[in-house]
Amino acid sequence: MSSNIGVMGHPIGHTKSPVFHQAGLDELGIKETFEAWDVAPEYLEEKVATFRADGFLAACVTLPHKQAVIPLVDELTEAAQAVGAVNWIFNRDGKLVGHNTDGTGFLRALKEKAGFDPKGANVVVFGAGGAARAIIYALKTAGVNRLTIANRTVEKAQALASDFSEGKFKPNAIGMSRDELSNFVPYANLLVNTTSLGMAGGPAELATPATADMISADAVGYDIVYAPPMTKFLREVEEAGAEPSGGMTMLVFQGIEGFEMSTGKTAPVETMFAAIEQALKSS
Ligand code: NAP
Repeated sequence: MSSNIGVMGHPIGHTKSPVFHQAGLDELGIKETFEAWDVAPEYLEEKVATFRADGFLAACVTLPHKQAVIPLVDELTEAAQAVGAVNWIFNRDGKLVGHNTDGTGFLRALKEKAGFDPKGANVVVFGAGGAARAIIYALKTAGVNRLTIANRTVEKAQALASDFSEGKFKPNAIGMSRDELSNFVPYANLLVNTTSLGMAGGPAELATPATADMISADAVGYDIVYAPPMTKFLREVEEAGAEPSGGMTMLVFQGIEGFEMSTGKTAPVETMFAAIEQALKSS
C-alpha cells in the first residue's frame, strides 16, 4: 500500500525531497513515510484519483506534471491560479486542492536565509519563464517598490509585466543587452536570476545575466538555480561585494511550506535543512 504523503514526478530518481521531509515527519513523531512516486503522464489521472482516499495528506508535484494536474483537482488556490502551476495537492476531506508554494518558499528563503525583506525594494528579475511567474507573484504580494523583468525574449517579459500589473504596481519589461541592464541593475537592492543561465547541464553553465561591475555592493543576489550551488552569477555578486544566496533554500522552503500545510504543524526547519545538507555532502 502506498503511503499518505510523497512527491510525484517523471523521472523522479534525482529527488532529494524524501530526505528532508522524512526528517521533518520523524522529528514531529508523525508516523508516515514520505515516498517518491514515478508517475508517467499516461498514469497521472489514475494516480491523482488515489489522493482522494481517507487519510491521504498531500502530494508534492514536480516536473513534468505541474500544469497537467490542474484539470484533475477540484479547486485551485489564488497562488496556483496566479502562477498557473500546481506544486502541491492537498486532500481536504476527499476534495483535492491544488496550490503553489514556489513563491512563498522563495520569500521565506529570502527572509530566513538571506536576511532580506523585499518590502519597498527595487528589484530586477532576470528571466520570464515558469519560475519567474512564481517569483514575480511573490514579490508583488511582498510589496516591492519597483520591479524590472529582463529577458532574452523581451515579448515574454512584456507579457508577464502586463499579467501582473495592478494599480500602482507596474513592472518594466526590458531585454538583456548591457545597455538596457545598465539602466536598472546598478540601482537594484535585489537581483533574482530565474533564467537557466548557470545551471549544470543547461544552455550556458558558465554564463551570467549580470556582471560584477554593474551590481551594487549593497544588493542581495539570489540565484534560483541550485546546481551548482555556486553559479557564475553568484560569483559576480560576490565580486561586487554584494550578498550571494543560492536556490537550494527556495527548493527546501517550497517543500517546508507544503509540509506545514499538509500536517498542520510548524516544520522543524533546522532539522530539515540539516538533513538535506547531509544528503548533498554524501551524494
Ligand atoms: P523556463 O520556463 O524554461 O524558462 C527559462 C528562462 O531562461 C527563460 O526566461 C529563458 O529566456 C531563459 N534562458 C534560457 N536559455 C537562455 C540563454 N541561453 N540566454 C538567456 N536566457 C536564457 O524554465 P523555468 O522553469 O522557469 O526554470 C528556470 C530555472 O530555475 C531552471 O534552472 C530551474 O532548475 C530553476 N528552478 C529552481 C527552483 C528552486 O526551487 N530553486 C524552482 C523552479 C525552477 P527566453 O524566454 O528568452 O527563452
